[in-house]
Amino acid sequence: MTKADDETGVLLYAFTCGYITLPTTYFIAGGEGKTKVPACTFLIDHPRGYALFDTGFSDRFVGLDKGLGKIVDMPEDHPISDRLEALGIDPARIDWIINSHLHLDHAGGNRLVPNATVIVQEPEWEFGLAGEDGAYAKEDFDTGHRVKKIAGEYDLFGDGTVTVFPTPGHTPGHQSCRVKTATGEAVLAGDCCNFRRSLDEMKPPEQVHNLDHYRGSLATLSELRRAGARIFYGHDPEFWSQVPQASELDLTTIES
Ligand SMILES: [Zn+2]
Repeated sequence: MTKADDETGVLLYAFTCGYITLPTTYFIAGGEGKTKVPACTFLIDHPRGYALFDTGFSDRFVGLDKGLGKIVDMPEDHPISDRLEALGIDPARIDWIINSHLHLDHAGGNRLVPNATVIVQEPEWEFGLAGEDGAYAKEDFDTGHRVKKIAGEYDLFGDGTVTVFPTPGHTPGHQSCRVKTATGEAVLAGDCCNFRRSLDEMKPPEQVHNLDHYRGSLATLSELRRAGARIFYGHDPEFWSQVPQASELDLTTIES
């Protein structure tokens, strides 16, 4: 049994699962200096099951200060399994993991959620496995989980409340998720839109996999925002600081 029922509708929770410090141009073209950004993850509690949107960094970064550990900060209580347990939820009870994409700041916690089926766009899975991009770590995502490879939009519970949709550009098979709750509609963007400013200025990062696709994905999000959805930007420290952690989100209080 989940906490959500027909009366509450879908409940949404946000967690930070680690941080990474990178040149700001990695997130937005023309950005200055470096920015420490959160790895943002979400629990979607639906009357018929639990889904995660992204799982943040792996617990192998806890206490690591060499290699990638120099730019990844993973506090001891940040792994997704700890986040869930702190809410009283056994990670083994999570039914689905929706990975926006398979980079190591988004799929790192998959291993800690053993019984979930991973939902990923087919081109993302193929590209990750090809191993051409250093931001993918096979040990994070090639885990033996059941993988449901999809192509295009996917209505997870068949009732229109949780809809996965492609937002390519950052990677070939990037996807985002629309979640309808009793307090409004959330769009969990992932890295198709890093900052609020990315959308305000329609500005991609300096390096993208496909610029035309990236611009198209920003346009899709812009339309959703205009229609009243709350956009949860992929890596915006300022936006994220107003999002309450580990409690039921009331979307009327979120300014996007
Ligand atoms: Zn990312």
